[in-house]
Amino acid sequence: MHCPFCGADDTKVIDSRLVADGDQIRRRRECLSCRERFTTYEIAELLMPRVIKQDNSREPFDDNKLRAGFSRALEKRPVSAESIESAINQIKHYLQSTGEREIPAQIIGEKVMEQLRQLDEVAYVRFASVYRRFKDINEFREELDRLENKPSE
Ligand SMILES: [Zn+2]
Repeated sequence: MHCPFCGADDTKVIDSRLVADGDQIRRRRECLSCRERFTTYEIAELLMPRVIKQDNSREPFDDNKLRAGFSRALEKRPVSAESIESAINQIKHYLQSTGEREIPAQIIGEKVMEQLRQLDEVAYVRFASVYRRFKDINEFREELDRLENKPSE
């Protein structure tokens, strides 16, 4: 891999470690010419299903959108970036495991809610209230009960 500092061809890996629950490899590299060091991340490229939006249009799955959703819900909450990545990975695993080529955005929203619920109750309520647009507090309460009674996978 080319050095991003001087463009030299040869860089060597000086450290490799698994991150994000073993779903990524983080490598420290050193340029043999200029001796600068930099980091690369390696992740498996797997095909993700396309997302069916509410208006029935399709779009490619984008984990940055997922990340942005988590960040919004978790703003100022004590949850590490590592935990968020792990939650995103679990959702991606789930989507891949369905074997579907297209998946409704709603299913993804449900998965985000499940993950948020495990990460942080406040963020969960925040996300759920926006996502579901509950008409009143009772409807919201019912939803919470439903999720609480649902056995976790
Ligand atoms: Zn270099």
